[in-house]
Amino acid sequence: MVFNDGRQWVRALKKRIGRVSLPSAFDSRLALRFVTFVVAPSVVFALIVLLFSAWSLQTTVRQSDQAMRDRQVREVRATIAGVLDELAQTQGGVAIWDPAWEEARKPDPDLDWIEDNVGIWLHHTFGHDSIYILNARNEPLFAMVDGKRSDADSYRKVAADLAPLVDSARGIGPRPPSVHDRLDGHALHPDSTVRTSEYAIHATDLAKIDGRAAAVSVMRMFPSSYWNEADAGTEPLLVSVRFLNSGLRKSLADFGMIEGARVTPRPDLPGSGTLSLRLKSSTGEPIGYFTWRPQMPGRAILKSIRGRVIAALAAMAVLLTLLLAGIGRLMARDAKLIGEISAAHTELQAKEAQANYLALHDSLTGLPNRTAFMDFVDRALSAHHGGEGPAVMLVDLDRFKQVNDTLGHLAGDRLIEQVGERLFAVTPSNGMVARLGGDEFAICLPAGPGGPEAVAIAEAALEQLREPFSIIGSTVHIGGSIGIALAPRQAVARTELLRRADIAMYRAKEQGRDGCRVFSADMDRTMLRRLRIEEDLRKVLTGDEGLYVQFQPQYTAEAGRLAGFEALVRWTHPTLGELAPDAFIPVAEDCGLILPLGMWVLKETCRVARAWPRLGFAVNVSPVQLRAPGFASQVTAAVCEAGVSPAQIELEITETMFLDTDESIRSTLAALRKAGFRLAIDDFGTGFSSLNYLSRFHVDRIKIDRSFVARLGQDVQAGAIIETVISLGQALDVSVIAEGVETSEQRAFLQLAGCNTLQGFLFSAAVDERDLPALLESRRPALSGL
Ligand code: C2E
Ligand code: CA
Ligand code: CA
Repeated sequence: MVFNDGRQWVRALKKRIGRVSLPSAFDSRLALRFVTFVVAPSVVFALIVLLFSAWSLQTTVRQSDQAMRDRQVREVRATIAGVLDELAQTQGGVAIWDPAWEEARKPDPDLDWIEDNVGIWLHHTFGHDSIYILNARNEPLFAMVDGKRSDADSYRKVAADLAPLVDSARGIGPRPPSVHDRLDGHALHPDSTVRTSEYAIHATDLAKIDGRAAAVSVMRMFPSSYWNEADAGTEPLLVSVRFLNSGLRKSLADFGMIEGARVTPRPDLPGSGTLSLRLKSSTGEPIGYFTWRPQMPGRAILKSIRGRVIAALAAMAVLLTLLLAGIGRLMARDAKLIGEISAAHTELQAKEAQANYLALHDSLTGLPNRTAFMDFVDRALSAHHGGEGPAVMLVDLDRFKQVNDTLGHLAGDRLIEQVGERLFAVTPSNGMVARLGGDEFAICLPAGPGGPEAVAIAEAALEQLREPFSIIGSTVHIGGSIGIALAPRQAVARTELLRRADIAMYRAKEQGRDGCRVFSADMDRTMLRRLRIEEDLRKVLTGDEGLYVQFQPQYTAEAGRLAGFEALVRWTHPTLGELAPDAFIPVAEDCGLILPLGMWVLKETCRVARAWPRLGFAVNVSPVQLRAPGFASQVTAAVCEAGVSPAQIELEITETMFLDTDESIRSTLAALRKAGFRLAIDDFGTGFSSLNYLSRFHVDRIKIDRSFVARLGQDVQAGAIIETVISLGQALDVSVIAEGVETSEQRAFLQLAGCNTLQGFLFSAAVDERDLPALLESRRPALSGL
């Protein structure tokens, strides 16, 4: 994009940069996104997994513990049943045995025999704790407690506790239901509670004996050979007691499953970690509680793995945290990267825009530059089909160099900026104003404007340039010269259009500056003439005939005495005839030929001057010569070579050269002075009106410009200026000469004002070398002409 205006571009750039979000806002947004989309879901997921796992584990543990508990309860019940069955079973070995039966039925049984064959057998082999044999009247005929024979009293202590089962074995009273059926398929004897054999009659049950829980079995004794002859009511009874604490524990310990089993009157308090099974007899009489420490495999596993689970959870939490932190860092890095990329992108865009801008704009004024202008003109030309074509104007500032030289480059820059703004203001919006470089500006008006409109815009631009400029505290007056070229109806190339505008501008400058000219064909002819002059001048300087020097005399104002001459170059052109210096000096300055030409005039003058050592000879020096490196030494060498004293030669230098801040010009002037040349300021008053330099730089003579002399008598100001300059010269002790004196009135005014020297047609025009002796001979030729 091309902006016509630099400020417009800066605004666009700022707007673009403004679109980049700030890093802090970016961070907080990123943090929120990170928490919402990463941290929260991860934590929730981890918690769900954790809770589910805990719940599953808990359930498994509970179920496994419950299963184990159920199994242990079943085990305990079975064991209790087994204890009862075993008790009854082991009784059978001696109760259904003829010798024992016979012995027990004797009125006076052999107790030793019974002890040996029944008591010891049952106690030692089967672990019965108490063994009693009762007679038909239920009196104990044999008693053994804890493996020791005992007396009848030991039975009486427990007789009441045993009575229900004793009665039951006799077939009296309620019988405990048969629950301990171990021999499946065999008919149960109607009187037996336990089936141990087909004939055996038992009353076997849990009971509280002497306050302790026990398995008790009461069995009818009878002969194995004729059991059916036995009398139920009179047969001896074998009573076996096995206390659960000892017997049951042993049986359960055998399984290796039940730990810490004991029989207690009451269950353990809840939370003690034990399990209690309520014991009761078949008739429902409470016996106590069987208590043990149940195995809890689930809990045990839980306990064993708890440490590892906690460690695993901690590790998982740490891992999760690290993972999240890692993701966070990655996201932050990515975001930072994206931020950086987008910032870099924006910067790149900005740089690209800046590069574009710089490529097409002038940095000082912000206006389009030469490239942009040429492009604009090309486009205007190609868009033009018939009708009025585009117009191109070239603007050259007058006196810009003086501002630059006197006020400095900074002032020059400010002036260029202000000129740019003023020209921008007068350029129509569809046109373009550009700075081509230096103090050169150009305006292009696309298709449409005819000559009058283009001239009107040029006049408006000149009007703007005439207005004073305020530059770092100083008021500056400049002006401009504008050349206009209008694209003709037929196609024309951009370079041709610009060339024409350039010629028109040159013409405007030539014709007194501060004006505008529209290109016309005859201007082109002038240009061609210039080119021809350049070509011919080159030839004449390399040896051809035609150049010569004339000398215009200068007289003292008081006495009218011949004081010296000004050397003025002339050229007899082979086809154009006599040419005044104004016709070829500017061309020579433009193409650099002024250097050999100036040197040639100097040498010619020296040659003549040598013959008139008491007269001064003034030679004009162009600014181009003064800027040429080594000028001072070349001039000094040429003069010395000619055998002339530099003091006889006066170098006429235009006013602006003394204002130049360039160090090389200052040193050249100083070197010339040092070599002994006289220095004169030519055309004084036409340049930049600052006289400060006169006090800073010593000159020998001030030459009042002939335009002031010409205006004497018509313009009051001209006289005042001349008087001022003369009195200034007197004050500074600098000689003052007036040129272009044509009338005696002018001469009288200048004489009266105190001017030192006079030169002009009133006395003599420039004359050939050969006419010099005649001039010298007439003592007062000037006064004689009055
Ligand atoms: P300038 O230095 O101001 O020279 C004085 C000019 O005024 C000369 O014009 C001279 O013929 C003319 N002139 C003398 N008296 C009168 C008068 O009473 N009335 C009028 N109207 N004009 C008078 P010229 O010879 O045509 O020179 C024109 C300019 O050419 C000079 O102006 C000078 O700037 C330049 N020029 C001449 N010769 C040389 C030269 O050898 N080297 C350089 N660099 N410039 C030269
Ligand atoms: Ca001169
Ligand atoms: Ca002059």
